[in-house]
Amino acid sequence: MDERVESILIPRTQIAARIREMGQQITREIGPLVGGPEAGPLVMMPVLTGAMVFAADLIRHIPVQMTIEPVTVSSYPGKATSSQGASIEGGVPADLGGKHVLVVDDILDSGRTLGLLRRVIEAQRPASVRIAVLLAKEKAEGRDEEVVADYAGFEIEDNFVVGYGLDYDGYYRNLPDIGVLRDPGPPSSTPTSPAQGHAS
Ligand code: 5GP
Ligand code: MG
Repeated sequence: MDERVESILIPRTQIAARIREMGQQITREIGPLVGGPEAGPLVMMPVLTGAMVFAADLIRHIPVQMTIEPVTVSSYPGKATSSQGASIEGGVPADLGGKHVLVVDDILDSGRTLGLLRRVIEAQRPASVRIAVLLAKEKAEGRDEEVVADYAGFEIEDNFVVGYGLDYDGYYRNLPDIGVLRDPGPPSSTPTSPAQGHAS
């Protein structure tokens, strides 16, 4: 683990076990609704870039007919560690009417990202919209936008975490565990620069 990572909050084995359980629950609850000629496949909508690792593991525990429609939402530009207001880049797919949609994100924090996505998706009158997040931060003062995740892997304290897809300034997404940074900054050895203009 990188020396800037102060402590491991959730080790990879625990993440894997929890994602398996989440996949089984989602399969039980959504599986019977999708796949027929009327409902069509489940539309899995991972929020790039943070949810890509979680979504990649989760979908392999959901053996139902599905399509994958990633969306890009920016909320933590550059070195910010709190949401600066969310915006969807390039919109969401336009054919969600009548479909069952599962939005998959890495972490629920202020609620702005998932609140915005839910509103934009619901405007198309889908059959259902559900939300799955790996992490949900406890907010003593409440969220900026009230969003409840239908499926949440772990409730965590309100600290900035990295790893398992979650970044700080584009770095640390490839850490296999979820950890807390000692002090914000790039990893201690940085062989390559991250891409410019990354999304949360
Ligand atoms: P929200 O819009 O709910 O404030 O935040 C959602 C997005 O912000 C997440 O998809 C995630 O990319 C980013 N985010 C929120 N909290 C954290 C955190 O503790 N660490 C990292 N790396 N990203 C976070
Ligand atoms: Mg991020």
